[in-house]
Amino acid sequence: MIPSINYRARTFRVARALQRCERCGELTPVVGLLLPVGHETLVAQGDTSSAAQAWDVSEAEALLFLVEHIPERVRVRLHLLAPHYSFDHEDGTTDSYWMNHCARCGCRQNDFELYCEPEGAFAPVGAKPAGSICLHWFPEPIEAGATGYALAPRYFSCAQRQQRIRQRY
Ligand SMILES: [Zn+2]
Repeated sequence: MIPSINYRARTFRVARALQRCERCGELTPVVGLLLPVGHETLVAQGDTSSAAQAWDVSEAEALLFLVEHIPERVRVRLHLLAPHYSFDHEDGTTDSYWMNHCARCGCRQNDFELYCEPEGAFAPVGAKPAGSICLHWFPEPIEAGATGYALAPRYFSCAQRQQRIRQRY
């Protein structure tokens, strides 16, 4: 089921890194979404029987994963940085989401491996692996529906931050 929009921000970054494919052993580019300080999360208000919701402002950067809904405009940005990013179904689960795939063999690169496993592309365990992550800035709004959310790992401060002064796409 596609969740309604539950995250939004005035700008966003696309994180691009390399992940080793478990099937073929090759390094393949993978992308993810990083929301800036000041992004907003839709949260329930009061007790669980209440349908009231409100936007909560965050004071930290955060990664979104298990992303089920993104605007077409944002999807195009991701696709230009990783052509094998597409909506897919994860084996052995009921989860379908925007997923990275190996550029060589097409194998799914599931979000749990990328975001939750130590040394996953977006879970660097040191400054050196974090330094190979490139954060491409897009000064335009984003709204997304996602079930995965994590504060940016501390080593993300070592990632390369690219300021996009002029839109090329
Ligand atoms: Zn592969």
